[in-house]
Amino acid sequence: CIPASASKANEEVVFRSPYTDVDIPNVSLIKYLRDKTKLHDDRIALVCGENGEELRYGEMWRRVDNVASALARLGVQRNTTVALVAPNCPELVVSFFATISTGAVATTVNCLATPAEMARQLENSDTAVVVFHPAMAGVVQQAVGRLQQQKQGSVRALICTHALPEKQPGLLYLPDLYGDDGSALPSTASIIPSEDLVVLPYSSGTTGLPKGVMLTHSNIIANLQQLTHHEVMDVNPDGDVLFGVLPMFHIYGMVACLFMSVSMSCKVVTFTKFDPQLYVQSLVKYQPTILHTVPPILGFLAQTPEVRPEFLQTVRLLVCGAAPVGEALARCITHKFGSLFKFQEGYGMTEMSPVSHVSAKAGYVPGSCGVPVPNTAAKIVHVKTGVALAAGEGEGELLIKGPQVMKGYLKNEVATAETIDSDGWLHTGDVAKVDSDGNFYIVDRLKELIKVKGFQVAPAELEDLLRGFVGVADVAVVGVPDDKLGERPRAYVVKHPNNSVTEAALEQFVASKVSVHKRLTGGVVFVDAIPKNSTGKIMRKELREMAAKEASAA
Ligand code: AMP
Repeated sequence: CIPASASKANEEVVFRSPYTDVDIPNVSLIKYLRDKTKLHDDRIALVCGENGEELRYGEMWRRVDNVASALARLGVQRNTTVALVAPNCPELVVSFFATISTGAVATTVNCLATPAEMARQLENSDTAVVVFHPAMAGVVQQAVGRLQQQKQGSVRALICTHALPEKQPGLLYLPDLYGDDGSALPSTASIIPSEDLVVLPYSSGTTGLPKGVMLTHSNIIANLQQLTHHEVMDVNPDGDVLFGVLPMFHIYGMVACLFMSVSMSCKVVTFTKFDPQLYVQSLVKYQPTILHTVPPILGFLAQTPEVRPEFLQTVRLLVCGAAPVGEALARCITHKFGSLFKFQEGYGMTEMSPVSHVSAKAGYVPGSCGVPVPNTAAKIVHVKTGVALAAGEGEGELLIKGPQVMKGYLKNEVATAETIDSDGWLHTGDVAKVDSDGNFYIVDRLKELIKVKGFQVAPAELEDLLRGFVGVADVAVVGVPDDKLGERPRAYVVKHPNNSVTEAALEQFVASKVSVHKRLTGGVVFVDAIPKNSTGKIMRKELREMAAKEASAA
C-alpha cells in the first residue's frame, strides 16, 4: 500500500495524498462532460433497467439541449434552482443535464420524502421548477400545495418526466419538451465554475436539520478528476458498463454512477429501485464491469445464494461506500468471489462532493477506507486536546482539505463556520485513525448523524417531532447497529410524570410524519433522564453504549 506522506507543518501532522495532483479544468460541469463524450455519439449512454430502452450519447445530448431550451423559455437561467424528484431513470438524467445546461442549480430530493420534508427543501432552496416522476406526483402536489397555502416558496412550473394517459392542466411533460427546437438554449459562458453552484443536495452535516450543501462546478469536477486519476480508480474510457442503482439524488449515486460514468462515456443501466430479482437477472443480461454498492447491497451479493460468482465474471471493480463496510462483510465477499474483481472502499460525505478517501491501488485493507485522493490533505485531531495526531498515535476527528470541499451551507453561515474552520479544514464529525502505511480507518462518529441503508437520518428532526407529542418531556434519538440496515433509529424518551404514552404510540406517530427510512425501527425506550453534559448537550455516546449493553444482555 502506498503510504500517505505525513508532514509537520506549523507543528501539525498533515497527511497528504500519496498521488500526484490532478488539474481541475476551469469549465462548467456540462462542458466538462460533453467534451469528454464528444467522440462517442453512437455509444449507448443509458439503458432503462426496467424496460430495456436504450439512449445513445448523441440522442441524449440532443434531448438535453432541447429540454434546456424549453427550460430557458420558462425563465430558468444561471442560478435558478430546479428540484429533481425522481428515481433513477433515463428521463431523470436528461432533466438533470438539461437543468445544469442552463446554468441552473439542481437540488435533488430524496424520493422517500414526505410532503412536509419536500416542502421544506423546495422552500429553503428557492426552487422555481420541479421536475418529478409520476410515482412522486401525489407528494409533489401536496408539497407545492402546502407552500402555496402558506404563501411561501417560489415554484412556478411543474414538469412530469413521463407522459400521463390523461394530461393535467398546468403540468408540462418532459417528452413534449424533447420537441423544442433548441433555439433558446442559453450560453454557459457566464458561469464562474469556482463560484456558481451546480448541485444542491441536502445533508444534516454534523448537527441539526438537513441543510443545502452548496457544491460548485469546480467542486464536482475536482472530485471527478481525483477519482479518475489512473492510480485511484480503474475506470476504462473504452467502455465500462455500470449499474445506476444507487439513487442519484444522493451524492454517491450522483457523482459515481452518473457524472463519473458519463465522463468516461460508459453505459449506465438505470434502476428505479433495488429489486433483488431484477438485479440478479440484469447481472447476467448486461454484464457490468464496475459495480458501485452500499453495504446492504454488498451484503446481498455476499449472502444470497442466487447471486452465483459466475454472474459477476465481467466485473472488474466492485466499490462500496456511504457507510462502513466492516471486516466481516469484506471477508464474506472475498470468501465467495475470491479474486474475481478488485474491491475498493470509498469514504466521503455530501459536503466533500463526496469522496476524500479510496482504498489504495495496491489493495483493499480490511476495515480501512483507504488513502486520501489526489489534491487532498487530512488531519486527525485529538477530540479533547485539539492536537493533530501522527500515524499510530490514536484516534481523533478527521479533518479534510481539498478542492472538493463544499462552498458552504445555503443561507447558513453559522453551520458553515462550524464545519469549515478559518484555515479551510472541513470537520467531518467522524472519528478516524491512520496506520503506518497511511491507511485510514473510520472508527466512530462524533456527529449525531444516523445512517440507515446509507441514507441520512438527522436525529434533530425526529427529536423535534417527538418533543411536540403530548406526554414527552425530553428525548434523544441515536442509531443502534443493525446487520442489514447499518443502523436503526431508536428514541430514548423521558415521559411527563403520570403520562401513559406508550412506545407503540410514539413509533406510529413518527411513522405518520417521516420518510420510511427515518421510522423508529430501533424502538422507543423510556428512561428517567437523558444524559447531558454541563452545557446541556446530549451525550449520545452514552446512549449508544447503553444500547450496546441492552443488546448484549438480550
Ligand atoms: P453522506 O453525506 O450521506 O454521504 O454521509 C456521510 C457520512 O457517511 C460520513 O460522514 C460517515 O459518517 C459515513 N460514511 C461514508 N462512507 C463511509 C465509510 N467508508 N466508512 C465509514 N463511514 C462512512
